[in-house]
Amino acid sequence: MELIKAQRGTQDILPGNSERWQAVEEVMRDEAAVNGISEIRTPVFEDTRLFQRSVGETTDVVQKEMYTFEDKGGRSVTLKPEGTAGAVRSYLEHGLYNSPAPQKFYYLTPCYRYEKAQAGRLREFHQFGVELFGTSLPLADAGLIAFANGLFDRLCVKNLKLKINSIGCPACRAEYTKALKAYFTERKDRLCETCRSRLDRNPMRILDCKEPGCAEAAKGAPRILDYLCDDCKAHFEGVKSALDSIQIEYEVDPSIVRGLDYYTRTVFEFVSADLGAQSTVCGGGRYDGLVEEMGGKPTPALGFALGIERLLMIMEAQQVEFPEPHPCELYIASIGEAAQKRAFQMACGLRECSIAAACDEVGRSLNAQMKYADKLGAQFTLVLGDDELEKGLGVVKNMKTGEKTKVNLNNDIEGQFAAISTRAEDEEDLSF
Ligand code: ATP
Ligand code: MG
Repeated sequence: MELIKAQRGTQDILPGNSERWQAVEEVMRDEAAVNGISEIRTPVFEDTRLFQRSVGETTDVVQKEMYTFEDKGGRSVTLKPEGTAGAVRSYLEHGLYNSPAPQKFYYLTPCYRYEKAQAGRLREFHQFGVELFGTSLPLADAGLIAFANGLFDRLCVKNLKLKINSIGCPACRAEYTKALKAYFTERKDRLCETCRSRLDRNPMRILDCKEPGCAEAAKGAPRILDYLCDDCKAHFEGVKSALDSIQIEYEVDPSIVRGLDYYTRTVFEFVSADLGAQSTVCGGGRYDGLVEEMGGKPTPALGFALGIERLLMIMEAQQVEFPEPHPCELYIASIGEAAQKRAFQMACGLRECSIAAACDEVGRSLNAQMKYADKLGAQFTLVLGDDELEKGLGVVKNMKTGEKTKVNLNNDIEGQFAAISTRAEDEEDLSF
């Protein structure tokens, strides 16, 4: 029979790899807690209009990439292509603005985009995102960037470049868009088809196009930074000086415009040379108009999203060492039926005491059991046979040092093992 395979652009996260995911997720949760950021979980699917309104009609995501379908009740629903829209909806729906500002949230979520699948570009991928509401201070922008930066540091990710830009507010952007449109209209024949259609609706997005012709045409385009109004200029200066004050290096890159419509003022990206074509691992910025756009009171807000698959690709390329997954601490081998039963009982008792014990579960020979224990990386072994059961005595062997210790099988084996085991008590220590 034909085997059904996983869908194009989706990935199984298998044992051996899932431990890596857990390790980075744990660091993310931990760093968030230290920064007073609480988790928010929103549904995987939402009313399609939510994304049309928030992400924006002229974006690639809404125009080309959404997983939209009609449910059995005839409603149009969409699998979340990003996390901000749901967070803002939830923020408004539950009156989260009533708690003291700034309100800070993070999410770890799968996202869905109908993309041309390739390395670092999937149809189901995962984001770690942060959203802050209720602060317009440049300090908040710098703090958010510092948070992402600190996360990368903690994960031992190196050589990331932080690029920042300001794309102004609707007032200064209107002037800029006009200038940009005039500029690209003169070079229309060099633009790709998508960019030609962007010319009228959203010329700024042309700056973000990866087509060589468009990138070439964009060289020498008017720079948004020359069009910022006084307030936006002051804000951008404030962000830069706050970053300087905490020694975070950045490069001002006027070509950073971000793919989603809702951004205002500060935008930023962390890019890595270890990613190939899909070089952005984390992107974010301010979206001061979004909450109001979604039906709330005017509320300044900002956030970022970090792609976990791309993060792991960088970590792999840089050969970052991950913490060891939980090893088997004691393998209890057995010879014969009675011993097998006793080994099972013992393993269950040890596990109740949070000791990672294993025993024969498939009826292997002693030889095969020992090989299996070796594969599990068992730190200690104990062999039970009729003789051991009869005498009530066993020998725990340290597989690394060969050291042997006698144990009384009939009395508090958990306590005895805990005393023997040189179990490093550093399970909490995520030593990246
Ligand atoms: P790109 O320019 O690479 O298409 P984007 O601007 O669409 O990225 P965002 O919407 O800002 O990306 O998403 C934030 C992060 O999520 C990206 O920096 C990236 O790490 C990750 N990401 C986005 N789309 C994908 C995808 N299709 N597959 C894997 N990761 C993705
Ligand atoms: Mg994209």
